[in-house]
Amino acid sequence: MHGIQMAKTGGPEVLEWLHLDDPTPEPGQVVVDVAAAGLNFIDTYQRSGLYEVPLPYRPGLEGAGVVSAVGHAVSGVSVGDRLAWTTTPGSYGEKIAIDPAATVPVPDDVPLDLAAAVMLQGMTAHYLAVDTYALQPGDRCLIHAGAGGVGLLLIQIAKMRGAEVFTTVGTPEKAELARGAGADHTILYREVDFGDEVERVAGSRALDVVYDGVGQSVFQRSLDLLRARGVMATFGNASGPVEPFAPLVLSPASLFVTRPTLFHYIATREELLARAGDLFGWIGQGELDVRVGLRMPMAEAAEAHRLLEGRDTTGKVLLVS
Ligand code: NDP
Repeated sequence: MHGIQMAKTGGPEVLEWLHLDDPTPEPGQVVVDVAAAGLNFIDTYQRSGLYEVPLPYRPGLEGAGVVSAVGHAVSGVSVGDRLAWTTTPGSYGEKIAIDPAATVPVPDDVPLDLAAAVMLQGMTAHYLAVDTYALQPGDRCLIHAGAGGVGLLLIQIAKMRGAEVFTTVGTPEKAELARGAGADHTILYREVDFGDEVERVAGSRALDVVYDGVGQSVFQRSLDLLRARGVMATFGNASGPVEPFAPLVLSPASLFVTRPTLFHYIATREELLARAGDLFGWIGQGELDVRVGLRMPMAEAAEAHRLLEGRDTTGKVLLVS
């Protein structure tokens, strides 16, 4: 098989497309022929060294495919089954050996590429809107980077829950996509102060929650927009990690700040199946539009990373074998 491996951390050039030994399933594992792997911003943090990984490392935390071999002590999974997963590294490769308990079955009415596309960003959007701050009808939320992978899905789920959605985007084309997903107010935050724009439309301290995957460049200004006892969900670092701050900065509005991570919201098998089940159900019924902005061969993972870090992608980027 072929797959991407990195021997050291660094720029996109450390991602090498190599000939690797075919995996054989250990007891308790299955081997899946990977149809599509999802690209996620966390892959860039692992590649650059912001998040530590053991080296050599096989990147890619999300994918979907068809079972091609089943190891001993596996029950309930057969050759030919369609599975999707997140949190298991090594997804940027033609095959992966995986514990089926870390996977979910993909229903027949959900294409494998779309299943791969929602396992990480989709379940993140789900937990943010449903659990981290459970949006209610009439709530006002701000979603940063609304045309991104998480962003386009989070806008749609927020609208399903009846919220009013403000979102920031880098370009007019991205604004168009965010509006298409249902955003009520799009803000070109490279051209105007997004905080001024939110205050102009909604008034001061009008937001119930900010969902922030951009981090450093928007965090402080976002805090000023939250109502008393509002929630700042800082879930990513696309512009760099948030600087340390004193808890006293939260006191003007008794704010709550949380730094959530998907892994803690799919910690049990029941929760994993429930979240994936909601997403697959919405896709099957046509209620969730999963926008795949770009498909590239896995061998071109380095270029895909350059595009993602360069703010040149929208929606989901898939790596296909
Ligand atoms: P996106 O597709 O949203 O891409 C990142 C976007 O961030 C860019 O397209 C860009 O949009 C915006 N951005 C703003 N400033 C910068 C910058 N300086 N450099 C690069 N991009 C910038 O990525 P994902 O959907 O994969 O992830 C979004 C965020 O969510 C990431 O921070 C990621 O780490 C986080 N995340 C967190 C999870 C969790 O559980 N904690 C799980 C999944 C993702 P624009 O041009 O419109 O500004």
